[in-house]
Order: sequence, then structure tokens, then C-alpha cells
Amino acid sequence: MIRIQFVGTGGAFDVAQGNSAAWIEFKGKNILLDCGYSVYPRLREKGIVSRVDYLLLTHLHDDHAGSLSTLIFHNTHVENKRSAILYPTADFGDHLYQYLTFSQQKPENHSDFLPLWQFPGRGISFIETTNMHVPGMQTFAYIFEDEEEILIYSGDMGNPTLIAKYLNENPSTKKIRIFHEMTFYPNISAHCYYKDLESLTEKYEVYGYHLNEATEPTDNKIPLVAHFPCLLL
Ligand SMILES: [Zn+2]
Repeated sequence: MIRIQFVGTGGAFDVAQGNSAAWIEFKGKNILLDCGYSVYPRLREKGIVSRVDYLLLTHLHDDHAGSLSTLIFHNTHVENKRSAILYPTADFGDHLYQYLTFSQQKPENHSDFLPLWQFPGRGISFIETTNMHVPGMQTFAYIFEDEEEILIYSGDMGNPTLIAKYLNENPSTKKIRIFHEMTFYPNISAHCYYKDLESLTEKYEVYGYHLNEATEPTDNKIPLVAHFPCLLL
């Protein structure tokens, strides 16, 4: 069983829900998946910043990376420890490094940058979803697999086609849980319209996030992360 708890479940402007990010306990390590502008404050409230073993990002919008540098500085100056950042591709690793230079000048003084395959115990892979959220933007979905189950975290990706394709091409008898970003508003290409996720629910356990649950229409069939206390940090 892979343990996942959301630090926040909202979209970029859903301040009350907090930025979508996940605390994942996998192979004995704590992975913080995304670190938007509301994430560091929330982890401070919980007193668990120092327990993050690895940082992993889906993309560099502020609601996914906005407090990353602060969290890293916290580790350096308050916890007196280096941070560990996992990256899916060399290109995105460079991109992340450049992003951090604007705040940290020499990011390597604070963090170790590790390709995803160097995660101890392995088991984490990715789907590159670049251009699907916003044209020109590098984005990634992540797949965590242990002996029992497969957990997929979409990141922001606009539509479920690549995850559906991945699952068709990689059939498995394991339990499969998909945490998919979602919007209730039609005609927003940056996010996945809730009705477009319904076909995935026929085969897999699907949960929607990155939204304000108060705007849920009555015909929504996708369970919302925000309604499951066991999935919230
Ligand atoms: Zn977002």
C-alpha cells in the first residue's frame, strides 16, 4: 500500500483548499510531490518540514513550485541539512536548477539533484505531458509502483489521454489508483474537464483534485480527494 496524503487540493486560486501537493510515503521514504506557494506554511503548521526526504515536481507554476526555494532554505538554515530533489529528465533537471538560481544563485550549495531512477528502491516512473497543460511548458505525471499497487499522480495536464494510453500499453493486475487534476468548467484546455475522466472510472479507482469542491455539479461522478479525510494531511 502506497500512502498518499494531500497537503492541499485546490487550484491556483483556491486559497482555502491550499495548493495541490501530495505527501507520499513510498519504500520507507517521504516524498513531497509539488511545493506550491501554500505548501511550506502548511508543512510548518504540521511541524513536518524536516521529515521530507525527497522533493519532486510536476511543473514550475507557482501553485506547484512557489515555496520550493523557501523550503530548501529552511532545510539549510533551520534544519542544517541538504535537500534532495528528484528530476524526471535531464532537461527538466536543468530547468529546475535554472529556476532556483534566481533565488539561490548556487542551488547546488543547498540541494542534491538526482535523476528519478536514483531513488532508492526504484519504483517511480513518469509520463512526460509537456505542452498538454500550457503550450511550451514542461509538465510531468508520476507513477509509483510497489508489489501491491500502482498509483498515478497526474500533475496539471489538461486531459487524460496520455494516462489512458499508458495504462492500455502497460496492463497490470495490481490495484490502480489515479489521482487526476480536474475542472468543473468546460472549455478550459489547461485542465481536465470532469466528464472526460468518467471513462477511466470504469476500470480504475479515480480521484479528482486541483479544484474547489464547493463548485461541484450534481452530476459529477468522480470522487473528490477533498471529501476523503484519509487522503488529507
Ligand atoms: Zn496547478
